[in-house]
Amino acid sequence: MHAKKNSAFTAVAFVLGIATLLAAPLANAYAVKTTSRGWPVRWNSNEVRIVLDSSLAAIGPQEDIENLVISAFYEWTDAAQLPVEFSFVSADCGGMGHDSNGDNENCVLVDSAAFEGSKAAARCVMTYDDYNGNIKDADIIINPNVAKWALDETQEGYDLRTAVLHEVGHLLGLSHSEQDPSVMTPEISTHRSTRNLFNDDIDGASVLYNEMESFSEYNCSVTTPGKEKANTGLVFFLLFIGLVTVRRFFVSGVGRR
Ligand SMILES: [Zn+2]
Repeated sequence: MHAKKNSAFTAVAFVLGIATLLAAPLANAYAVKTTSRGWPVRWNSNEVRIVLDSSLAAIGPQEDIENLVISAFYEWTDAAQLPVEFSFVSADCGGMGHDSNGDNENCVLVDSAAFEGSKAAARCVMTYDDYNGNIKDADIIINPNVAKWALDETQEGYDLRTAVLHEVGHLLGLSHSEQDPSVMTPEISTHRSTRNLFNDDIDGASVLYNEMESFSEYNCSVTTPGKEKANTGLVFFLLFIGLVTVRRFFVSGVGRR
């Protein structure tokens, strides 16, 4: 009985030690978008349909642009092993933004009117439930009036893949990252093309979708930087395991009598 108790305490001490280590902030700089109540903003569905609007033809051959957009989505879902599966359909988009009576298609489109008075190259317009952070609608809009879009590495101009990767990051629920390199840094320039995601991006999406799921109840104040809060959840989880371990040893001790 004594030996058992000792090993139980050793196990708890070990778990607490690991929890303490994990509580230390790490260097990641990705940021998770949160509601005013502090909930992480993200898709709460395994399947999300994306409409590739016919207006994409304004910046290049429709099929090329569609393939580029689809490839950018897959870059995120594959690299961060997201539980969300995006499907794509070529169609005329019903309209931007969220309409409580509408279809609320999630669109990727080109629209100059969305950039009046703005120099942004692209943007993501998103509507989510402030109570739980579930995304209701998200549209990625590309500005046709930036100097020039580069559709691949051989062309001069703003790299379209970089911009779409960045906006898909927003569409998933990520905010801007302070870490460079990261696709989620606020600025893209003609000097830079980012063909793939960086570790900071992948960590952000992975934590948002794969690690925050199980302890979201505890996590009512998720703010930047995401990794620290994610570790807070892990600490709770390890404390829980510790308590379960104690209880199991205690219960099995009682049962032997
Ligand atoms: Zn941005």
